[in-house]
Amino acid sequence: MVEKRIKRVISKPAVSVKEGEEVKQPSEELQKAGRPKRACLFCQSKTNPSYTDTNVLRRFVTDRAKIVPKLKSNLCSKHQRIATKQIKYARHLALFPFTPKV
Ligand SMILES: [Zn+2]
Repeated sequence: MVEKRIKRVISKPAVSVKEGEEVKQPSEELQKAGRPKRACLFCQSKTNPSYTDTNVLRRFVTDRAKIVPKLKSNLCSKHQRIATKQIKYARHLALFPFTPKV
């Protein structure tokens, strides 16, 4: 019993000091610094993605005909949502491929 108590007393402050001081500071600095603001293509041109202009939608699809995720497409969340819906609608109307042409 005595040994366990001693171990707990010794281990607790060492861990809490390290976590409290060293871990919190870098994460806060990163959050403050953040990433540079993204330049959304549709926000800049003040347009919305539509299923008719497939040349524009083609930028947001990989060579395997997959929709590019938000982090890579550099679109804002609003326009990413619209773009995915328009791509899927264009696919349904056979204006856009489901799979790459071989
Ligand atoms: Zn946008």
